[in-house]
Amino acid sequence: LDPNQERLTNTERDIEKVLRPQVFEDFTGQHKILANLRVFVQAARQRGESLDHVLLHGPPGLGKTTLSHIIANEMGVGIKITSGPVLDKPGDLAGLLTNLEPGDILFIDEIHRLSPLVEEYLYSAMEDFKIDIMLESGPNARSVQLSLNPFTLVGATTRSGLLTAPLRARFGINLRLEYYDAKLLTTIVLRSSSILKTNITDEGAYEIARRSRGTPRIANALLRRTRDFAQIKGDGNIDTAIAKYALTMLNVDEHGLDEMDNKILLTIIEKFKGGPVGLKTIATAVGEEEGTIEEVYEPFLIQEGYLMRTSRGREATDNAYKHLGLIRTGQVPR
Ligand code: ADP
Repeated sequence: LDPNQERLTNTERDIEKVLRPQVFEDFTGQHKILANLRVFVQAARQRGESLDHVLLHGPPGLGKTTLSHIIANEMGVGIKITSGPVLDKPGDLAGLLTNLEPGDILFIDEIHRLSPLVEEYLYSAMEDFKIDIMLESGPNARSVQLSLNPFTLVGATTRSGLLTAPLRARFGINLRLEYYDAKLLTTIVLRSSSILKTNITDEGAYEIARRSRGTPRIANALLRRTRDFAQIKGDGNIDTAIAKYALTMLNVDEHGLDEMDNKILLTIIEKFKGGPVGLKTIATAVGEEEGTIEEVYEPFLIQEGYLMRTSRGREATDNAYKHLGLIRTGQVPR
């Protein structure tokens, strides 16, 4: 259920790998992005060039890592994976860059969390495929310029707003991933079930899909948990009844909101009269990090019409009151 990949256990991560589409053909949804990428990839291949640098943004679990692997497969090149917070010093980055084969992909997850020093180092690498390396230290220190193999940087971020303008400007391809609708997620759940060799009805798949917060990673996680319930409490097959049972046990409500979603809404309504209330205050009240609320919970609650973001803070909508079965004070119940 956890949208943060870091918190998944090893086996969970292995399963995630197995479920990961490898080529454009297997990637469901995001049609416009895929149509564009197919053209850019084909054009670069025809010219025998590396693909232009790609920036992927959108909430966690929508397929940014998956897409970067697919791009590498479709370009027929290798991929190296790292993340913003891991690249501590320019030297870390230099090590990665000098080991890239011509055309390879360097995937940097959470690219908005690069240190300013590393980020600046990246500029010339991205632009001219050149880096400066310091030789020796102290009075003998001198820098030499090193040519790199042409490569493609694929940057992923959940917070494109935090990217600096100079970094953003160095990406020739800029793509924003959207939440998936229930129909697309049903296709994904059915595909994953067949890979996991689990019997599932279309209706059972839809029940999981529509309650997955528009997110393939969550759909796959709920499928795996539902499979557990089916195995222990049922006959191993997933239908609507066992899916509904499992989702209730997992505290995913009828509209697909999880415990934290509901806690956020309830807190705004009960403790802060429905808002407006600041993000920081909400974070403290629900015991979750500000960044996580902003990146993971809020975008979905806003998209589904439960939450509004105003200049004075966050406000619960009428929809949120209705969802929680509450009545806005000062309003006549209908
Ligand atoms: P992100 O990098 O955006 O956090 P990932 O690429 O790691 O997301 O995707 C999470 C999981 O969801 C992957 O294991 C993958 O199997 C699945 N997934 C994501 N997008 C799709 C898709 N469009 N079709 C099928 N599965 C997907």
